[in-house]
Amino acid sequence: MLKKDCQYCLKREDIENFGRIAFETETSIIIAFKDQSHKGRMVVAYKNDHVAEIGDLSEEERKNFIDDVVKCANAIKKCYHPDRINYGAYGDALGHLHFHLVPKYKDGFEWGGTFVMNTGKENYCSEEELTELINNIKNNWE
Ligand SMILES: [Zn+2]
Repeated sequence: MLKKDCQYCLKREDIENFGRIAFETETSIIIAFKDQSHKGRMVVAYKNDHVAEIGDLSEEERKNFIDDVVKCANAIKKCYHPDRINYGAYGDALGHLHFHLVPKYKDGFEWGGTFVMNTGKENYCSEEELTELINNIKNNWE
């Protein structure tokens, strides 16, 4: 069941505080992250229910969701050529299943460490850069 006060369930405007919805699949909401301290950073959120953890999904739902995470990671790799992608699934406060996909570049920002959730609005990319990111991910979704 979708939850009334959850930004992912309602696809609420407050997603705009940190990102922009790029597009949706049958299973997921794909969100471009405004803090592009890691070039190509995206979020993949489960769409069809307010579930906290991946183990709360059925086998089929889990497969479809992880497929979307992998497709998003592959599109990031193809467009931005990171040396590694870090995956973060936290949601302590919100409790809605979503993965942060954080591209890491050898000897670049936070290489070898844990990524910071949000480095600050002063580091947000421009609307044009966000549109370009969304188009890149969309055009390489396979
Ligand atoms: Zn939710």
